[in-house]
Amino acid sequence: MTAMALDYAIRRSSRRRTIAIQVHPDLAIEVLAPNESGDGEIAAAVERRRRWIEKQRAFFRSYHPLPSAPRFVAGETHYLLGRQYQLRIAERMPSTMVGVVGEYIEVLLRSANSPEAVQRALRSWYLGEAKRVLSRELDVASKVMRKHGVKRPEFKLREMGGRWGSCTPSGFLMLNPILVRVPVHCVRYVLLHELCHLRHHDHGPEFYRLLDRALPEWVSTKKTLERWAEVLPISEHNSLPRDG
Ligand SMILES: [Zn+2]
Repeated sequence: MTAMALDYAIRRSSRRRTIAIQVHPDLAIEVLAPNESGDGEIAAAVERRRRWIEKQRAFFRSYHPLPSAPRFVAGETHYLLGRQYQLRIAERMPSTMVGVVGEYIEVLLRSANSPEAVQRALRSWYLGEAKRVLSRELDVASKVMRKHGVKRPEFKLREMGGRWGSCTPSGFLMLNPILVRVPVHCVRYVLLHELCHLRHHDHGPEFYRLLDRALPEWVSTKKTLERWAEVLPISEHNSLPRDG
């Protein structure tokens, strides 16, 4: 059997020690490689991971074409930390509860089933998950930033139309709860970006020097995040977050 050639973009970096492969939601394959890696070595690494790559692409293909707005009905796809789940809904239960059960986000409604009731239950569940995940990831990111003289700030969730996160002059983070739907490495990028702003408030060269040190692969992570902005369904948000 002759396998189809896989198209991929190579990004070399002096900071990388090993070859890493990323498959993006638009099905593009990106190879992150050390400077000294030859094309043959990279091609071999891609071949070795071909099955994994095909699996990732099948996963992303399964939710094309992209949904416009969620309808909050059973079977619909929703996301948590970059994974897709199907909605499963049960009505007239003892209490309203939401949780992940295998491949499903299970919504138990106390009331009768309606898109509004599902939306309400999901929204408050996502907010709770966002609070928990972002608090944990902020601990991780703050540990990285401690050696650069940045202390862990407090944060608030805010459903900001066009932004993933921002920080106030007083050193307070505002984070978009929609972040809990993207992969955790993208969440870390947003947090590190904002933490770097606590040292350098603009996007000047010093800011980027610090970000480079905090997260050497931030450029490709930012790209992944931008692709997720296109994949995520527009729910309670009027527009999709873009800026990190
Ligand atoms: Zn910024």
